[in-house]
Amino acid sequence: MAPGRLAETGSSELPWSEAESRLGDLIAEFGPSSKSSRRQSAAYPFTHLRTDGIWTLSRDVPMDTVGPLDAAPISGRLEASLERALSRPGQIEEAARQLVDAQFPRTVAPDVLIAVGLDPDQVFAGGASFAPPEGKRQRSSSWPRAILEAWDRQCAFCGYDGQLGSSSVGLEAAHVRWFNLGGPDELDNGMALCSLHHKLFDRGALGLDEEYRILVSGVFSARTEAAKRVYDLHGRPLKPRRGTDLPAIPHVAWHGREVFRGQPLSV
Ligand SMILES: [Zn+2]
Repeated sequence: MAPGRLAETGSSELPWSEAESRLGDLIAEFGPSSKSSRRQSAAYPFTHLRTDGIWTLSRDVPMDTVGPLDAAPISGRLEASLERALSRPGQIEEAARQLVDAQFPRTVAPDVLIAVGLDPDQVFAGGASFAPPEGKRQRSSSWPRAILEAWDRQCAFCGYDGQLGSSSVGLEAAHVRWFNLGGPDELDNGMALCSLHHKLFDRGALGLDEEYRILVSGVFSARTEAAKRVYDLHGRPLKPRRGTDLPAIPHVAWHGREVFRGQPLSV
């Protein structure tokens, strides 16, 4: 949010009066599920990022508590030398790219960038997108193909199997536990999903229970018949080809805990 604000206004200064709602909403939408209120979720990074030396507050307050933030006006800002460094051309985009690459899959990163006022096309311009920094885990280049083949080139949720010529189109290899958050490139951590269901799975609108039934989030809503078809997936079992590795339960549980939004539909 701070790099986005710097790009938008030329300053990363963020009053608590704005952070408490906007940052709270961003954390609720893109962060792991939490029982904290939105204001409390916003208060954690707003006060705590000071310990990393990258964030300053206009007056001293205790860590993590909302009350002192409400007591009088207060604003946060990136540390001055960091803000100067980021103000050089291209640096905000570079920082934003590294942040989203470290935390989100490719299906989600553009949504996060748009939500904080950055343009994904600019952030990922230049070809460096998603290249792992030195020393980071390398992705397996053969994993996506192995996953598509293991699932017989069909979406594990809806059975979509479109091809153009001899190659699948609109079909992707989806990690259950996100790669950049420790998910391995193994056959038991992936499914073939059509582009729509991949996106909905990574945003937590769709999930899996531990009996491999598809879950639709109660937070997901749709107005048209086309979008309402997503509800029809609820409770449907995954249908792998005989012999296909199903996602391992610890990965399924991770997705349920960290990605799935709210509670599943009740019927
Ligand atoms: Zn599908």
